[in-house]
Amino acid sequence: MPGGTDQTLQPFAWRAETLYPDTEIVSRTHEGIVRSDYSEYADRTAQLANALDAAGYGDGERIGTVCWNHHRHFETYFGVPGMGAQLHTINPLLPDKHIQYIVENAADRTIFVDQSFLPKVEGAVADDPESFASVDRYVVMGGQVPETELDAVAYESFIEGHSTTYDWPTLDEERPAGLCYTSGTTGKPKGVEYTQQMLWSHTMALQTPQGIPVADDDVVMPVVPMFHVNAWGLPFSTTAGGAKHVYPGPQPEPADLAALIEDEGVTLTAGVPTVWLGLMEYVEDNDVDLSSLDRLVVGGSAAPEAMIRFFDDHDVELIHAWGMTETAPVGTVAHVKADLEDADYETRLDKRTKQGLIVPGLEFRVVDDAGEAVPHDGEAFGELHVRGPWVTTEYFARPEATEAEFVDGYLKTGDVVTVDGDGYIKIVDRAKDVIKSGGEWISSVELENELMAHEAVAEAAVIGVPHERWQERPLALVVPTEDADTGTLEAGLREHILASYPKWWVPDSVVVIDEVPKTATGKFNKQALRAEYGDESLVEGRVPEDAAPER
Ligand code: ADP
Repeated sequence: MPGGTDQTLQPFAWRAETLYPDTEIVSRTHEGIVRSDYSEYADRTAQLANALDAAGYGDGERIGTVCWNHHRHFETYFGVPGMGAQLHTINPLLPDKHIQYIVENAADRTIFVDQSFLPKVEGAVADDPESFASVDRYVVMGGQVPETELDAVAYESFIEGHSTTYDWPTLDEERPAGLCYTSGTTGKPKGVEYTQQMLWSHTMALQTPQGIPVADDDVVMPVVPMFHVNAWGLPFSTTAGGAKHVYPGPQPEPADLAALIEDEGVTLTAGVPTVWLGLMEYVEDNDVDLSSLDRLVVGGSAAPEAMIRFFDDHDVELIHAWGMTETAPVGTVAHVKADLEDADYETRLDKRTKQGLIVPGLEFRVVDDAGEAVPHDGEAFGELHVRGPWVTTEYFARPEATEAEFVDGYLKTGDVVTVDGDGYIKIVDRAKDVIKSGGEWISSVELENELMAHEAVAEAAVIGVPHERWQERPLALVVPTEDADTGTLEAGLREHILASYPKWWVPDSVVVIDEVPKTATGKFNKQALRAEYGDESLVEGRVPEDAAPER
């Protein structure tokens, strides 16, 4: 090995602790605002690592978390991979059956869970205890454990009494450090493993000027959940930069975000468009001081042009970025190239609404159906393929999924894009049959299967319909059986879906059709359905407030 040591996360934490011991880590919790600093962070991550050792967890074993964004969750970010185990962040908003599958597939040894998610986890365990057979202990994030059937200990008791120093091992960069599942078009969620090296290189790429760099005078608030691809890597890059962290805690409302920005002097924040639409409304109706805020990163779904203009008007630079669970996640960032800096506002805006420029370290290609590379003319489109040091090359324990999603060392993203003459990538369609609502996936194929399992349904297709607040919402197109009672059909189907899926998965409208159009190969022709029914008016006014529950 030419370098002195491998590429691992621990040096980032070591540097922050050594150079910035007094820099703050602020966390909004049920118990109020909790303040600590990198010095205390170092003590507590050491205690956590010692506690994990003492409990017999380690050496590549997986440690699950079901948590919001807060300081204890952040302690697992360095504490778990640093001692050689693997941090598996679990999305609590998924249907129970997905969580059961994920825990079983990952064989998590223990699960760190927020008190507010405890009922969700208890329900999933009670429904299928076998899938949680590998878990021997639940650690409840906080000082106390509420009444529970589970074998649980409070986080504070778990780490208490352990030494505040830990002899962090020198790890191999190939060692798995993280694990995050992504919802596939069909079938089960797919696990993406992040090695130490992937997280290190992703952090370093973010720290370049072409990424989303964090300096030691920044105050960074990731609103994107820490169960979504490590909050897009920000907890790592914020530590690498020695900056102050602000964690917005459980279910932050726009008022909470505004207060944290004002009180803590947040300079950089990140989240999906739905979050910022909420904040925009709040800012219009209230007197909010956004003057500390310098950059606001938007990803997960396309940043609307009006949003970029709004934040420009408030002197906040909206940075549009694209990524995937498979790309750890950041792949492109829509910076304005130097030779466009002097272009007029509309020209620059046009570039900023695109998903952006590939970040240094990655390569991409765009290929058409015949596998030919398309020209970079802003018109020709094809599927985006990417590869690089922090792009996964396989799915965890799922060879058949890996086979389908990778080619020539590239990840097939399922995003259909154009590339303009300046190299800006723009998503124009999605080849994968999924709906993204408020930053969370809904599988249209699963909904179709569930609908078609209902006795009144002969055939059903589900499409995503554009929606201003949630970006997309599901719409069901149903061919009823001959003797179905169409008067009670919609209510019956709602109930049927609710029996197995969270409320926000339920299609907002059920439209009765005569026949589902098919492609030449007999598949549902989603393109034709979207062309005919993909109109916001079909779901307008019908979307429940909690369409995506975490916001
Ligand atoms: P994340 O948790 O970062 O959203 P996922 O793996 O769940 O990652 O979703 C990745 C997909 O989300 C992409 O393939 C793309 O379809 C969509 N996506 C991500 N960022 C954007 C964006 N800026 N604009 C449009 N779509 C996006």
